[in-house]
Amino acid sequence: MKVEKIEEECEGIVNISFKMQDAKDYSILPKAGQFIMVWVPGVDEVPMSLSGADLECYWTITVKDVGECTNALCNLSVGDYIGVRGPLGTYFTIPEDNSKLVFLIGGGTGIAPLKFLAEKLKSKGFNVSLIQGAKNEADLIFISQFGTFQRDLSNVIYCTDDGSFGSEGYASKIFREELDNYSQQELSNALAYTCGPELMMREVFRICEEHNIHLEASLERMMRCGCGLCGLCSLDPLGLLVCKDGPVFPSEILRKIDDFGKYKRDITGRKISF
Ligand SMILES: Cc1cc2nc3c(=O)[nH]c(=O)nc-3n(C[C@H](O)[C@H](O)[C@H](O)COP(=O)(O)OP(=O)(O)OC[C@H]3O[C@@H](n4cnc5c(N)ncnc54)[C@H](O)[C@@H]3O)c2cc1C
Repeated sequence: MKVEKIEEECEGIVNISFKMQDAKDYSILPKAGQFIMVWVPGVDEVPMSLSGADLECYWTITVKDVGECTNALCNLSVGDYIGVRGPLGTYFTIPEDNSKLVFLIGGGTGIAPLKFLAEKLKSKGFNVSLIQGAKNEADLIFISQFGTFQRDLSNVIYCTDDGSFGSEGYASKIFREELDNYSQQELSNALAYTCGPELMMREVFRICEEHNIHLEASLERMMRCGCGLCGLCSLDPLGLLVCKDGPVFPSEILRKIDDFGKYKRDITGRKISF
């Protein structure tokens, strides 16, 4: 696919948009939470969540420069070509009933699929509270898009580890404090979605379990194939694959994943603790 648009979101993070020329069939429009495998010719192929996709088949990814392939992606120019496989994996489910209270809790580039989800929820009239956590002010992303979102009766809360913008503390801590504003009866009609550092998501899961809130979490693991062949992204003890059975897992499954918030695998398949 030809790169159509590149914009810097903040230092070291860029949005890359391309048009899926062959995606004329509506049924392959991606859903929020799904990912693609992006190939940079001559470099590597890596998994990336979609941060947006429109009806004209423009898809967007939000890439953080952390290594060889993401650096190559961040240095692309408009008109360059990349390979795209997808959409892949499971997605965030959106209930029919838009009277439900919805909480989105994200950190780092984990906010990318949540932005896509927030747009979908907003278009369906949900009341959404979005909490974005980052290390510091410079790392916060999508501020302008969330500004528009906030004007449409939704609640956007920022927090930073160093307190340089918004509340001080991790997104999970701010989520717990935010829940104090609601009665147990209101929370019985709540749902939560999370994506970001796994220790943050584990804490969000714990809080949701305490309040009996259904959660969907998007997990990130190293993967080579993205389609269930290599096994690098397998989760103990069930052998679920993040690429095929995930990346989005609901509470019922999260309860059974021993690795969740504890171990991931390195490129050789060896388990390492978070
Ligand atoms: C389902 C899914 C969705 C993702 N969505 C996004 C996104 O929206 N935006 C974004 O910037 N990143 C996303 N990632 C992470 C991204 O795939 C990795 O940052 C990327 O693969 C690193 O490749 P590299 O060649 O630049 O880094 P390398 O040079 O290979 O390594 C640099 C660092 O990144 C780590 N890393 C390498 N590969 C992965 C991997 N597959 N997953 C996690 N960490 C890895 C390494 O341990 C190392 O610390 C996602 C990963 C998954 C599994």
